[in-house]
Amino acid sequence: MHIAPERGRELAEEVFGAEKWALLPSESEANFYAIPQDKAIYLSYAGLASLWCVAHAAFHIADIASRDQRAAKQPGQTEIDIGAKLAARRISDYLAYATVLFRADRDWPIELPPPEINPSFDTAGGRVNNVFFGALSWILLHEIAHVHHGDQKLIPVHLLVRQEYRADDFATRWILDEAGNGLHREFRVLMVVAALTWLFLQEKVVGIGSDHPAAILRFREAATLFQMGDRSVGLENAGYILKAVLDPTTPAPQFDTPKQLFEWVSRRLEALFPVS
Ligand SMILES: [Zn+2]
Repeated sequence: MHIAPERGRELAEEVFGAEKWALLPSESEANFYAIPQDKAIYLSYAGLASLWCVAHAAFHIADIASRDQRAAKQPGQTEIDIGAKLAARRISDYLAYATVLFRADRDWPIELPPPEINPSFDTAGGRVNNVFFGALSWILLHEIAHVHHGDQKLIPVHLLVRQEYRADDFATRWILDEAGNGLHREFRVLMVVAALTWLFLQEKVVGIGSDHPAAILRFREAATLFQMGDRSVGLENAGYILKAVLDPTTPAPQFDTPKQLFEWVSRRLEALFPVS
């Protein structure tokens, strides 16, 4: 309802309809899933905590990198190095916690400040929560699609995989189709990438699995729907986040446009997450 408010009525009337759907907690490892015949969607506490930590990292990476990129550079400097600032904000500790949650639920680390409840929107805590809810929206829409399409579990693997692509396609199009070409689209593209960043991290821990497409294939499909301009701030920040979380050590060349940065990072992901 919040990620694509222009389609709220359509979601309520044409997708949810008159029947009751259930949104339920689960105590499993970090994961989200749907049981279509029950019209039920399950969110694990571990999954919410893990996704929030990725949102926290995503906001701070984008915040630091976009400020540094716009600040005056030293003569001859082509790269920005945000490592020290990320360390000061303990981003790798949040990502480490996000990662262990893919194996099993764990208590919130005592040394990490937890999510703020109801921070005002114009604070860092408010922005982080906004990224968290934005990324969660894409994941929820993916699960909503499984219920909406009446997807099955006990079918051949190639059909399971096809259901997953269809659910991703539903979620990405739902968010972007009526987004226009302004800042709403930039923000929404970034939220899809934040969710996909979480999926890449999950795959690094638990592997590809036979019933889902590889994260890189899901990323490719979503990225073809972005349709952003050369100077897209959404793609720029998406590039910083993917690079800092998934490929922090590779030196990056100089880019003329945000789109070139995003395309370079996309090629790096193809190399880091090869599909056989
Ligand atoms: Zn799915």
